[in-house]
Amino acid sequence: MIEKELICVNCPMGCRLTVALDGDKVVSINGNNCPRGKTYAEKECVSPERILTTTVKINSGTHRVLPVITDREIPLGKLFEAMDILKGVSVDAPVSEGQVIVRDILGSGANVIASRSMDRCG
Ligand code: SF4
Repeated sequence: MIEKELICVNCPMGCRLTVALDGDKVVSINGNNCPRGKTYAEKECVSPERILTTTVKINSGTHRVLPVITDREIPLGKLFEAMDILKGVSVDAPVSEGQVIVRDILGSGANVIASRSMDRCG
């Protein structure tokens, strides 16, 4: 049995959570002031996910790179693989905010979308 300390990020209270784990099974959660903290701790310990934000190359854009973001969280364990894929991606300007740059990255169900519009330069 191991104990893991987490801070719930679901609201400004920032409750300090203590999670007891038996392997990857959650045995108990303490310190949460509401049910959302329990849900957060379970997900964070068993199958953590994150929003990915990065940039990709853009051809003929007003800047050299285009900020992109996933439209939902992806498994934490896939973040670096997704970053590697995006290093090889380039798009042509102009691009509209929300435009899909990579659909269903790594079969995660998340699309990588442009987080801003960018015009063509010149
Ligand atoms: S456990 Fe509830 S009250 Fe505490 S930080 Fe999380 S959401 Fe906020």
